[in-house]
Amino acid sequence: MNHERAHEPAGVGTSDVRDPDTDPTASYALDPGYVRSLTAQVLASGGTSVTTYCPFTGQPLGAVPQSSAADVEEAFARARRAQEIWARTSLQERAAVLLRLHDLVLDRQQEIIDLICWESGKARKHAFDEPMHIALTARYYARTGREHLGTRRHAGVVPGLTRVEVNRVPKGVVGIISPWNYPFTMALCDGLPALMAGNAVVAKPDAQTMLSALLGRRLLLEAGFPEDLWQVVAGPGSVIGTEIIKRADYVCFTGSTATGRLIARQCAERLIGCSLELGGKNPFLVLRDADLDRAAEGAVRASFSNAGQLCVSMERMFVADQVYDRFVDKFVARTRAMTLRAGLDWGSDMGSLISQEQLDTVVDHVEDAVAKGARVLTGGRARPDLGPYFYEPTILEGVTPDMTCFGHETFGPVISLYRFGDESDALARANEGEYGLNAAIYTRDGARGRALARQVKCGTVNVNEAFGATFGSIDSPMGGMRESGLGRRQGAEGIHRYTESQSVATQRLIRFAPMLGMSEETYAKVMTGNLRLMNRLGRK
Ligand code: NAD
Repeated sequence: MNHERAHEPAGVGTSDVRDPDTDPTASYALDPGYVRSLTAQVLASGGTSVTTYCPFTGQPLGAVPQSSAADVEEAFARARRAQEIWARTSLQERAAVLLRLHDLVLDRQQEIIDLICWESGKARKHAFDEPMHIALTARYYARTGREHLGTRRHAGVVPGLTRVEVNRVPKGVVGIISPWNYPFTMALCDGLPALMAGNAVVAKPDAQTMLSALLGRRLLLEAGFPEDLWQVVAGPGSVIGTEIIKRADYVCFTGSTATGRLIARQCAERLIGCSLELGGKNPFLVLRDADLDRAAEGAVRASFSNAGQLCVSMERMFVADQVYDRFVDKFVARTRAMTLRAGLDWGSDMGSLISQEQLDTVVDHVEDAVAKGARVLTGGRARPDLGPYFYEPTILEGVTPDMTCFGHETFGPVISLYRFGDESDALARANEGEYGLNAAIYTRDGARGRALARQVKCGTVNVNEAFGATFGSIDSPMGGMRESGLGRRQGAEGIHRYTESQSVATQRLIRFAPMLGMSEETYAKVMTGNLRLMNRLGRK
């Protein structure tokens, strides 16, 4: 494996890599003025802060001010005032701001990607997915706002006499709680349809990746969204997340299934809606007629994008007996050829895990599997020589149900291979467990792939692609079945969740009561006749 420790960081960073904790003349990895301009956006009044660190090197990146419950209260007050004005803007006006954001994230992608790499430790090519996803989302909701939000005519109970319109009314202030793994897009992408629908947002990004989320807010303002429409607060999820849920009109959460459950309970108590984008143990199927080179290339991206810290990445691979050996040779060879290194250049195929906690989980899962008899085909080692949290891309064989990584999400660069004889057996095993987020099926027969997909209990299924085909297709919903989530981001569902539908019916001439001296009994007979007629006419 081609693993290097290299690189001179560029862009928003400085070239001084001394540690300020031990060297009083040393600077942070990032320009302190740049960091302060970002952190100044956090609504925090107490004077406490938490330092964040770069996973590549362990260097401090900046001090993020911490919000209190009173700060969250103030964030909601500001957001509510801004939302009342914003809700009166036209859909056209909102769309124009989103389209400016589209261009801005493409123009400023180097700055965005540099900061994501510094903060998350991921490889540049995986960081690029983030501004790309925001551009796709911004353009989609700008161009479809009228289709999803415009007042629509619906069929009335009495054709011609009952005129029905359905309005889409914004919920108000949406709370967004987001994770660290895709820190720019996960902090922003769900908020764009919320803004398009006329809401304001109070966001609490993960503590480890506040800076990327704050750059996102800055770009929203630069694009032209009003100052107070998007508030950012910081602090521990269990404290500040809870303060948000107490006040929000709707909560959008992305993170682990365990936290998702807690959030759903709190939202239920307040009778507010929530969408939950949660974990997975995603299956990748290689059928016997698959293009094996294509499948092996896809398998690398499916398993090791962002070092496997991706909700839709694959952790279980089911391969047809007839092609198993040839596929595995190709997959292992491609994995061994990956370049692992810290740095901001395009040359790295995989970066670091984000934290010691993530590294510990990966080490535990692999050690447990090996101790119980699994075989490591490649990888299986931490790489402290590359950076404190590096771990090699790892392929396991012989994983059995008693091993932790059989059914639990690792959220790291570890994939288990399984053989299958017939496809119904592969499907049954792919559908085992409680998760249901994403799946991939490789086959030369697209129709067969789509037919099998209908039997997979996952919210997204990619045929001949790892995850990008569904994730990038913003017109279609994305989310999890079973314990992988509730609700959907993207598409019509991704914006309708932030609205209340309101039906307005205007009645002409007749009323829904006996008229012209008619008795109740006659009225009932007339209405019964009408119902029978409507059915005969094929009306809905
Ligand atoms: P996590 O649940 O620990 O944290 C996610 C967010 O929730 C953070 O902002 C955190 O501060 C906050 N939080 C934590 N406890 C909270 C509480 N009690 N109340 C309110 N907020 C709280 O998740 P994580 O480990 O940081 O993220 C990784 C997980 O996220 C993985 O399971 C991954 O599969 C999942 N994920 C899912 C998607 C998706 O789209 N389905 C996308 C990315 C990540």
